Amino acid sequence: MQEAPFVAVGGGLAGAAFALELARNGAPALVIESTRAAHHKVCGEFLSEEAQTLLSYLGIDVHTMGASSMGTFRLAAGGNLAEAPLPFRAAGYSRYRLDQALLDKAAEAGAEIRRGISVTEINGSEAPIVLKAGGRKLTARAIGLASGKHNLRQFPRAPSDMVGFKLQLRVSAAALRQLDDIVQLAMFDGGYIGAIIVEDEIVTLCWVMHNALLQRIGADWQAQAAYFARQSPLLAELLDGAKPCWAKPVAVAAIPYGYLRREALSPAIFPVGDQLAVIPSFTGDGMSIALLSGIAAAQAVLAGESAEAYQRRMITRLAPQFRWAGMVNVLFETGRLHGLTIGTARLLPPLVTWLAQSTRIRSYADVMAYQA
Ligand SMILES: Cc1cc2nc3c(=O)[nH]c(=O)nc-3n(C[C@H](O)[C@H](O)[C@H](O)COP(=O)(O)OP(=O)(O)OC[C@H]3O[C@@H](n4cnc5c(N)ncnc54)[C@H](O)[C@@H]3O)c2cc1C
Repeated sequence: MQEAPFVAVGGGLAGAAFALELARNGAPALVIESTRAAHHKVCGEFLSEEAQTLLSYLGIDVHTMGASSMGTFRLAAGGNLAEAPLPFRAAGYSRYRLDQALLDKAAEAGAEIRRGISVTEINGSEAPIVLKAGGRKLTARAIGLASGKHNLRQFPRAPSDMVGFKLQLRVSAAALRQLDDIVQLAMFDGGYIGAIIVEDEIVTLCWVMHNALLQRIGADWQAQAAYFARQSPLLAELLDGAKPCWAKPVAVAAIPYGYLRREALSPAIFPVGDQLAVIPSFTGDGMSIALLSGIAAAQAVLAGESAEAYQRRMITRLAPQFRWAGMVNVLFETGRLHGLTIGTARLLPPLVTWLAQSTRIRSYADVMAYQA
């Protein structure tokens, strides 16, 4: 009889990394992904140095795939702005393409990918774990819980009132020049909006806002664009004449920022990516965490380690950057501190660069040095 596979529940970056690391080390891996095909995801599409390094460990070089590159951070509020060097060269690349590329790599390495099927239930505390997917039951030796922003009913996380959106745009030549080599973050009362150039000179706009503000301005893109243009001349210039690549921004609600899953679900269920940890978006490090945790969980599975030991190790690794990100988040969240934040950033660019470094994952050499 065939052995039960290791199953990634969700085929985003975390689930694909989990399956790929297992498959290329000779273990049977299966990815169950609810969407039928590549799709746009709410994400700023800013790839930090760690994300690029972890992707290259997995055999993906976004630079040869046409990714953009940037080295400067621009912070704006109202008519004021400050710029500082990033602590590394970042890349911009669409999730639409990136997630599919990683799933393709996992398939090449021997993982089975099943799309268009949702996992609705996971039962059993010890292996084999029984899954319900698409109305059928199947067994797994261990699970990478990689459903990202979506919770399985059994494994809830405390929601927040933050809503996230993403839209890609074709902008004017002048606006494109304004964003050259830049990751731009504009704060407004009730949220912030990021902009970068990704491949093919497309601009990715990604923003988060409190539900109360959303209720006030509405979810319609034209209404939101008009609101942003009123918040800052920089945004007005970016949006002037811009053409959305599709009609309605993709959205996600109740993002549980700051969440760290400390409690073990079962010795054989390994939470990865956003199911393990959700860092505030402005850090641009969620994809690194997704990739790192997917790879680390696979390595733990291969070493016969329990999910609890893996989680403890990951949380210890992530806790310092979450503390810094939480503190910086207060500055972004509090409208009356925006002036002070920009003023300080203008006076002390090295402080901005240092904070950008502090909100990133550190010390992952052990994961990169892994040999089965
Ligand atoms: C507003 C915003 C901006 C961000 N910007 C950045 C950024 O610029 N840079 C960065 O590094 N990070 C950013 N992030 C974070 C980053 O997007 C996430 O951390 C990352 O996508 C997590 O990857 P994941 O694989 O855990 O989840 P996801 O990418 O969400 O993948 C989960 C997958 O599981 C599937 N799925 C869900 N439920 C089921 C089910 N029941 N059965 C089967 N499949 C299922 C989904 O279809 C999905 O494909 C941002 C996040 C937000 C909210």
